[in-house]
Amino acid sequence: MTVAQAAAALGVSKPIVYRLIREGLTASAGPRGKVVSAREVFMVATKRRVDAVRRHHDLVGFARQIKATIWPSEPERVILSDGREEIRNPGDVLTYVSARKGRDALVGLDSDAVAVFGPAVISTLADLKSLRKAGACSWCWARDLAAVRGGIGPSNTEAVRELIGNPCERDLTEMKTGQNTVDRLWREVKIDDRKRRAQAEQAARSREYEQARADVERATRRLAGAVTASGQSMTKEAARYRQQARRDRERGDEVLARHLESVAAKLERGES
Ligand SMILES: [Zn+2]
Repeated sequence: MTVAQAAAALGVSKPIVYRLIREGLTASAGPRGKVVSAREVFMVATKRRVDAVRRHHDLVGFARQIKATIWPSEPERVILSDGREEIRNPGDVLTYVSARKGRDALVGLDSDAVAVFGPAVISTLADLKSLRKAGACSWCWARDLAAVRGGIGPSNTEAVRELIGNPCERDLTEMKTGQNTVDRLWREVKIDDRKRRAQAEQAARSREYEQARADVERATRRLAGAVTASGQSMTKEAARYRQQARRDRERGDEVLARHLESVAAKLERGES
């Protein structure tokens, strides 16, 4: 393929393809300038994609971010009490109208977007509104683009669906029969991605737990302070907690019972 075709397949400029040739991409003299091996270009595209995917922990989130860059969300509307609809913040209209959209917004895109999803999907996203208006299937379009220009086509993942919507029956059938190396690589990367996301969720849950614990501690100290301030007996207040703990234990709620006992113990120690 020519340097221009390689650039289109990779979604990069021609100077970058020349740089890749200097760095080892096989090139030979063709009738009109240099030609490079399509297979090697495909390998380069795959490697760029895997590298870029590793930089993004949450691919669906990355897809949403890309979509918001290409198609900024329309101004939020509110329904008034008399049923009329109104833009919540009139200033949003100006922002929305003056924002770059579709093809014009491609300049503001994260450079990893093309490496991760391929030029075909990103180009389809930029043309999404006109494709929909024309009643064309965005997936068929993206697959055709990839077939014609080379490079990565759409893969059946949540992130790609976030970008260009759902595939049609024909796409699903083709994908079932046409499983290739890229799809396999993609799946492996996705598994890594899921693992990382599970770890992130676990971390978030333990942060939440720590937060809740800190809240309980604060509430207990406040209670102790309030008991002292109101001149009530701390021992009596603690006894009330122990009584409730016994009731909870009888009901089988051991966690709550233990918690109430720890509150009682703190009150007895007179912590404030
Ligand atoms: Zn389709």
